[in-house]
Amino acid sequence: MIKQEFKAESKRLLEMMINSIYTQREIFLRELISNASDAIDKIYYKALTDDSLVFNQADYFVKVTADKENRILTISDTGIGMTREELENNLGVIAKSGSLAFKKENESKDGHNIIGQFGVGFYAAFMVADKVTVTSRALGSDEAFKWESEGADGYSIEPSEKAAVGTEIVLHIKANTEEDQYDEFLEEYRLRSIIKKYSDFIRYPIKMDVVGQ
Ligand code: ADP
Ligand code: MG
Repeated sequence: MIKQEFKAESKRLLEMMINSIYTQREIFLRELISNASDAIDKIYYKALTDDSLVFNQADYFVKVTADKENRILTISDTGIGMTREELENNLGVIAKSGSLAFKKENESKDGHNIIGQFGVGFYAAFMVADKVTVTSRALGSDEAFKWESEGADGYSIEPSEKAAVGTEIVLHIKANTEEDQYDEFLEEYRLRSIIKKYSDFIRYPIKMDVVGQ
């Protein structure tokens, strides 16, 4: 499989995230849940003008699953999903989102205050994970693709399988070091409190599942 390199700008932000000494690492979950919610919004708005698409409230939710034993945290959604090209374009480079503006305006400031204020987006996952796997199936497609990266050295995309439309993001949570503890991001009560703190306003249900505890 060919490993592709991140674009230079993305690579720099990514490196900042990976080496972040940032104390508010918890905001990674806010970013991933907001992306999940945006992806559901996209179906919602599409359904308003597309008669063949019915938006059944009960079918749309975000799910956070913690598997402590295997150090895996999964954030999945039943949103619009991504095609292979979208995985490439949206995750391989920094979106024209808050991310880039944030980087440009605050390059010289220390990372401490800024990350929490700006939407730093998907790459925030690398503050807590040493490997991120995104499996997605786009609305209207029966193909799924898997995007995977262990950080700054690049990412790969390959065909995969997924039963339903939507996106599943698997975070391989970093091991603890002497300075840094990551276990908290696998603890149900801690995850619940992060969700309450930052994602209370999300319009779709955020379900929580705990494996093997
Ligand atoms: P932003 O949300 O500000 O656009 P992000 O870095 O958070 O920036 O996400 C980049 C892009 O990746 C999003 O704009 C979206 O197109 C895509 N994306 C990320 N997560 C998902 C998801 N769960 N479902 C569908 N698309 C997603
Ligand atoms: Mg985002």
